[in-house]
Amino acid sequence: MIKRPIVFATAVCLVTLFTMVFQPMPAVNAQTLDRIEANRAIFHQNFDEWIGIRKDGRAQAVLPPKDPEKVVYLTFDDGPDPKWTPLILDVLARYQAGATFFMIGYNAVSHPEVVREIASRGQTISVHGFNHVDLSGVGYTYFYNEVHDTELAIVEAFQGNPELIKQFGRCFRPPYGKKSDLLYANAEAMGYEVSMWNIDTQD
Ligand SMILES: [Zn+2]
Repeated sequence: MIKRPIVFATAVCLVTLFTMVFQPMPAVNAQTLDRIEANRAIFHQNFDEWIGIRKDGRAQAVLPPKDPEKVVYLTFDDGPDPKWTPLILDVLARYQAGATFFMIGYNAVSHPEVVREIASRGQTISVHGFNHVDLSGVGYTYFYNEVHDTELAIVEAFQGNPELIKQFGRCFRPPYGKKSDLLYANAEAMGYEVSMWNIDTQD
């Protein structure tokens, strides 16, 4: 059993040490994008039932802490990234620490094997939008597509391992931290909670 202060210190160090360096968007297979579009048409009506997301499914980042005074929630945005994500996963495993990975759908489509690896290591996956654009001023349809396409990209990565869907939490981190009443309303309409941050590592 690791003592709480050590866990706390370790978590703070993890936040400080690890950077998710922004990578240029890789090319995504056009066939994959076509498949996502087709899936959206098919599963638009019953997506929740299809992938088995619990209505109350929540990412680690918004779960109530057992001790509010001594809890750090680690979150990593903008991945998955084939170079950095495995390094982060190794360190989290070393300290038996949990984290939430807020994914860009475009990157999830490009690196499905990394999506699977995150989930199979017991970490939580949530949504950061498909194209990493400011969604604070967009209408519901635009917002829905950004979130839903990211969900599809993640689910697509789990094909063959459907049990991994339990690692998906319905939580949304706004790109660039740009939030608004409209964004909160759109997220709520999709059954999402919005997760911000209170420490930015400036990486
Ligand atoms: Zn971001």
